[in-house]
Order: sequence, then structure tokens, then C-alpha cells
Amino acid sequence: MKILDKKIALITGASRGIGKSIALRFAEEGANIVFTDLKYDENAANLEKELREYGVEAKFYASDASSFTGSEELVKKVLNDFGTIDILVNNAGITRDNLLMRMTEKDWDMVITVNLKSVFNLTKAVQRTMLKARKGAIINMSSVVGVSGNAGQANYSASKAGIIGFTKSIAKELGSRNIRCNAIAPGFIETEMTKKLPQEVREEWAKKIPLRRGGTPYDIANVALFLASDLSSYVTGQVINVCGGMNT
Ligand code: NAP
Repeated sequence: MKILDKKIALITGASRGIGKSIALRFAEEGANIVFTDLKYDENAANLEKELREYGVEAKFYASDASSFTGSEELVKKVLNDFGTIDILVNNAGITRDNLLMRMTEKDWDMVITVNLKSVFNLTKAVQRTMLKARKGAIINMSSVVGVSGNAGQANYSASKAGIIGFTKSIAKELGSRNIRCNAIAPGFIETEMTKKLPQEVREEWAKKIPLRRGGTPYDIANVALFLASDLSSYVTGQVINVCGGMNT
């Protein structure tokens, strides 16, 4: 039997990048995939097709993870269509980088709302069904900069540090019901998000990585697979750095 056979996994912001890779990896291991993004586009349509090639169910829902009521509605629809949610991956995230001197209130609010409030929204919305089932795995996408900070990313780092506090609290709150909650702290991963960085910044990052390369979304997906599955049945409240040794 496959590791995630017939599990229902909800992954936010998954039309591309790390979320997409997690969706594909989970499908490869037998999970039915529900994934979201702001709008249904070519990426979402292609991913639905690719996922179904693994012989699993796959469905896209347009949903803004930063909206509390939108997240409630999403979970209602998913429960109506699939009956349950076994795995939640809070992956949606954005950057609005700037030095504090130039960071606007809008940049601050936007990053905190999309990256951190979304984790509250979705976790709160799925908790009832997981409590009823007396099982569940929640995986939150933090970042190494949430652990160590980064100049020019005060808003992003604060949102990712907030996710770590939230993850540890929820692990303590829901552990007695067999619901596990863990965070992944990726380092420098090659996606659209990091493509935006200037070449010299990318080179500076590479020098700090003992494994001397940026990570791939697949590197993150494998750790997400471990945390989503029974392979990690005694692991909760943890932050796993997946960063080529950068944060050691
Ligand atoms: P990405 O390529 O920019 O993908 C992010 C996805 O989130 C996009 O599909 C985006 O949709 C979606 N999204 C944005 N706002 C959303 C919202 N309000 N509701 C629903 N979906 C939304 O980023 P990535 O590199 O794969 O990053 C995925 C996660 O890993 C993020 O939380 C990020 O902070 C974290 N992370 C990444 C790195 C890295 O090096 N790449 C490192 C550490 C942590 P649109 O296409 O509509 O914009």
C-alpha cells in the first residue's frame, strides 16, 4: 500500500512552486489532492491533469487563504465533495521585501495577512473535522528567516516566526486528539519567489549553504511527505529546517 493511500490532502497556494511539488509527491503516494490558489489558470488546469495521471482524485478551488470567511467556505465545499480532510498544508505565501525605512504599512499588513493569518484561517476551519476523526496532520510552511531573521524581510520573517509559534501552540492544543502540527523551514529554494532576487543576492546565499546549491521544491515535498504520513507518527510541534545546512 502507498504511504498516503486514499488520504485527502488540502494544499494552499499550490498551482506552482513548492505547493505544486507537494501535491505531485502526495499524489504519487496515493493521496487525493485538493489544492487552491487565487484563480483558476493554465497552471492549475495542468496540475489537475498531471495529478489525475497518478490515478487519484484532484480538484482545484479558487480561494484566498487570507480571507477568514473564504477559508471557512472552502473547507465546507471540500467536506461536501470529499467527506473529510486528513492533511492540511498551509503553503500559500508572498514576499514584499524592503528595508524597514522603506517598508509601507500596506507591505507589512499584506505579508502578515497572507502568510500568517491564512494559517490561522485554514487550521481553524479544518480542526472540527480532524477533531471528529481523532487524527490529522497539519504542515505549515515557515522559512529559515523565521528562525534567524533577514535584513530587508522584517515583515516576511515576522510572519514566518509567527507560524512557528502558532505551530507549537496547536501541537500542544490538539496533540491529545492525535492531530499533529509541524512546520517546515525551507532555505533557498529555486521557485518563482526566489527568481525575483538579484543575481548577487542569490550568489551570496549560495556561499552560506554547506551543500553549495539551492534546494528544489522536490526537496521540500519529501519532508512534507514524511510529516503528512504515519512515518512521523510521533513527531509534533517541530520545525524542520530544509536548507542544505544553512541554519546550523
Ligand atoms: P511561489 O512560487 O511564489 O508560490 C506561492 C503560491 O501561493 C502561488 O501559487 C501564489 O498564487 C499562491 N498565493 C499567493 N497568495 C495567495 C493567497 N492569498 N491565497 C492562496 N494562494 C496564494 O512560492 P514558493 O517559493 O513555492 O513558496 C511556497 C511557500 O514556501 C511560501 O509560504 C513561501 O513563503 C515558503 N518558502 C519559500 C522559500 C523559497 O526559497 N522559495 C523559502 C522559504 C519558505 P499566485 O500564482 O496567484 O501568486
